[in-house]
Amino acid sequence: MTQTVLVLNSGSSSLKYQLVDPTSGQSVAGGIVERIGESTGSATHQWGESETVRDAPVPDHGAALRLVLDLFDETGPSLADAGITAVGHRVVHGGAVFTEPTPVDDDVVTAVRDLIPLAPLHNPAAVKGIEVARELLSHLPHVAVFDTAFFAPLPAAAATYALDRKVTAEHGIRRYGFHGTSHGFVSSAVTAHPAVVAKLAAEGRGPETLRQVVLHLGNGASASAVLGGRPVDTSMGFTPLEGLVMGTRPGDVDPGIVFHLVRAGMSAPDVDTLLNKQSGLLGMSGVNDMREVRKLADSGDADARLALEVYLHRLRKYVGAYAAVLGGIDVLTFTAGVGENDHRVRSGVVRDLKFLGLSIDPAANEARSDEARVVSMTPGPRDGSEPLAALRQGQEPPVETPLVMVVPTNEELAIARQTMELVEGS
Ligand code: AMP
Repeated sequence: MTQTVLVLNSGSSSLKYQLVDPTSGQSVAGGIVERIGESTGSATHQWGESETVRDAPVPDHGAALRLVLDLFDETGPSLADAGITAVGHRVVHGGAVFTEPTPVDDDVVTAVRDLIPLAPLHNPAAVKGIEVARELLSHLPHVAVFDTAFFAPLPAAAATYALDRKVTAEHGIRRYGFHGTSHGFVSSAVTAHPAVVAKLAAEGRGPETLRQVVLHLGNGASASAVLGGRPVDTSMGFTPLEGLVMGTRPGDVDPGIVFHLVRAGMSAPDVDTLLNKQSGLLGMSGVNDMREVRKLADSGDADARLALEVYLHRLRKYVGAYAAVLGGIDVLTFTAGVGENDHRVRSGVVRDLKFLGLSIDPAANEARSDEARVVSMTPGPRDGSEPLAALRQGQEPPVETPLVMVVPTNEELAIARQTMELVEGS
């Protein structure tokens, strides 16, 4: 019989869920409850072709999960018939404590709650989600999967901030990295991709030597440098604020700006809001969705154009830095909402990185697909610049030509797989 995992992703005012079959990789059903705690809430539940929308006040996460379970009961699929075996919880911050998926018990809930000071925007919702799910689905095992876990093995040189070591030790300050579930899922999919397997074979190398840069470009955005499946650097740090330009976050800024603003009369909570919610693409252009920024830029809006330039400039800088960290790049991969869908961002990043051997095949880059795919040119057998065709025809890619790829991320599937592995192994 099919076995499925209910994956829960609790936000401060939302609960996303998906019932996933980790063996086939299929999402059986899923949806979102939004505006939890507000006067009007709403749930959208999808199963196959059918979509049910229910508008009702949802006072808290307990009510949200009860509504989800009602929707499964009323509109299907029945959780029991769908073979629900476990619940997997996405938890943003595992601190230094949780470096692997962990079966949830009372002590784990306490430890995740103790980590709230490290992730005040994210971990409170995760604690609530876990508590209500353990109550309402008490017959099932629950597993916590941490967004920071993939980056736990970062080398000390990459994880350490050059601050007074007494302060960093006392306050747990280090680079933790986030979006780890996505970077882990995508970098393993890259390693297993036939084009990469063929490339390594042609070069007589093992996968432990594969040098990858992964760009997770969604509303949040982060880059990672991965060597042989292990992370060696990542752009998000102590919090998800550091690094790339994002929808509403600025990425790297001079911390001196914070003190300047506070001295100028801004309160600390206002600076926090500025950095987390009012900056990035939104701050520069007035809109945070890349599609809207594009529309504005295409209509000639100077702020939106500059926002795009800043966004791309930061990306190129990170790819260049990670090429230095890794001693070269074998595969550069784009993923998440912007990375998977916006071909102009991909070509904009790669265009000026020819010196690293990176290239874009315009036709492959602009073709729409949900599949993991190569979008770079590979030197062909005759003229040295034939597009991907050579690779598609099964010819061996030339030694040391890096690939550029698009690989759809699937954090829910990654959480479901890790949950099932743990439950089956116990
Ligand atoms: P994610 O956080 O991975 O769900 O990505 C969400 C973001 O992806 C949205 O805010 C958009 O900026 C971006 N996005 C989604 N579809 C497109 C598209 N077709 N072109 C450009 N950006 C897109």
